[in-house]
Amino acid sequence: MSAHVRSEQCLHAQRCVQEYVDGTLVAEEVVVVDEHLAVCPCCAKCYGLEAGVRDVMRKACDEPCPDGLRAELRRICDDCDCE
Ligand SMILES: [Zn+2]
Repeated sequence: MSAHVRSEQCLHAQRCVQEYVDGTLVAEEVVVVDEHLAVCPCCAKCYGLEAGVRDVMRKACDEPCPDGLRAELRRICDDCDCE
């Protein structure tokens, strides 16, 4: 259990989150990310939040972007030491 290796994997997962939730991430990367999310509750939480936000935004496309919510999610993400 190496904190450094875990940090590298977290950084990779964080870089991929946008494409992952967009469904544009290549299959090999999806596998890598999925495997990491299975062992890293912090990143799994971040991905769950990102996916949830995009779902809400799709349903409420007439509304302005909720910057406050975005900032709140960033704050929660910061708590998990992913970077
Ligand atoms: Zn992670």
